[in-house]
Amino acid sequence: MTASPLAGSTGPTSGPEGSEGGEPITVEQLREHVLATVRPLPAHAQPLMEALGLPVAEDVHSTLALPGFDNSAMDGYAVVQRDVATASDESPVHLPVIGEIGAGQARLTQLAEGTAAKIMTGAPVPAGADAIVPYEWTDRGEASVWISKAPEPGQHVRLRGDDIAEGDLLVEAGTVLTPRHLGLLAAVGRDRVRCRQRPRVVVLSTGSELRDAGQELGHDSIYDGNSFLLAAAARAAGAIAYRVGIVPDDPARFTEALADQLVRADVVVTSGGVSMGDFDVVKEALRDLDTMWFGPVAMQPGKPQGFGTIGEDATPIFTLPGNPVSSYLSFEVFVLPALRRMMGLTPEVRPSVRARVTHSVSSPPGRRQFLRGSYDEDAGTAYVTPIGGSGSHLLGNLAISDALIVVPEDTTALEAGETVEVIRMDVPF
Ligand code: AMP
Ligand code: MG
Repeated sequence: MTASPLAGSTGPTSGPEGSEGGEPITVEQLREHVLATVRPLPAHAQPLMEALGLPVAEDVHSTLALPGFDNSAMDGYAVVQRDVATASDESPVHLPVIGEIGAGQARLTQLAEGTAAKIMTGAPVPAGADAIVPYEWTDRGEASVWISKAPEPGQHVRLRGDDIAEGDLLVEAGTVLTPRHLGLLAAVGRDRVRCRQRPRVVVLSTGSELRDAGQELGHDSIYDGNSFLLAAAARAAGAIAYRVGIVPDDPARFTEALADQLVRADVVVTSGGVSMGDFDVVKEALRDLDTMWFGPVAMQPGKPQGFGTIGEDATPIFTLPGNPVSSYLSFEVFVLPALRRMMGLTPEVRPSVRARVTHSVSSPPGRRQFLRGSYDEDAGTAYVTPIGGSGSHLLGNLAISDALIVVPEDTTALEAGETVEVIRMDVPF
């Protein structure tokens, strides 16, 4: 037998804890195994716009002061404050205007006593001037100006360094970069900042019944929703998603597609072909690799799972079940934490909240059930309303949900009004 192009070079790896007997393992057992397997990606200097939403991997200090020079906060006249200290409506002060200073066009750099210079917001205050008289307190004169109100000394002058001093810590390592941080970094002249790479996630759907949009549907075929569902979820998590699309239920073609994609993958996510059916292509192609694990997880939906590494670089691969709701849930529960770990984002697992369930629900014993729901708050109390049944094909219901209701393994029923753990799927964390 020739070695699979997907075989690793590091030798066998062990599966999740608790998986030896073939009994279902817990969600945590698989997730801990996943998180112990994936590594944070290396950090490098990334263009600012690429760094949005990533934790910065360096302390960034300013090499500049902000503002970089004393400048005007108003459109008006730069003056020597003493010259205008007595100005009022009753006895305005009259000064000759010696020139104009625009932002980015400041040729006039000195102001003598007894004169004024027109100045625009952001333009450098000339040496000798120590206050700005806004237009509103003047007759807006060109050659000379009448000033009818006195500014305080220093008024409307933004001093060099009053925002940021040279050497100031701008962003501490670990800070997740927001648009506000990026604005600040750009303002001190940075065009790059060190962050971990975003994982490149290759998403592949398996199933001979699958078709692309635009293709004709036969009596037994369906459109491939999962590759969009999963690629979009990867992108929403901050990763770079490559949606490969459809691979038929043919182990050789699946292996070939996977081997082709490995060069650009930090993570592979497949859907379908991991349950107990006759054409479970993913399992068939990968089950002999000693770096792969397949088995049941005590959850609903999403019972059949597979995870491991493939290829020379030991690229992590998640083989998710094909039913759309199972696929999405498995992504949420296993893939999302892995992607966050690779980017250095914490917490890795999405935090949950507690809410009162508005209707009674039932749940199978021994499995953690993730029901779809909609979250709401009313007068300080959190509620969650179940949406649809537990069927893992109910994509319509999934789409209108924004929460997952987590019914523990040992709970088989919840009455309306009981408090339950809820995962809010669209809340940033
Ligand atoms: P499987 O896990 O391959 O046995 O698939 C389970 C169910 O999910 C079957 O009804 C499949 O037709 C369906 N399914 C699998 N892959 C997809 C996909 N990419 N998009 C939509 N439905 C799918
Ligand atoms: Mg299938």
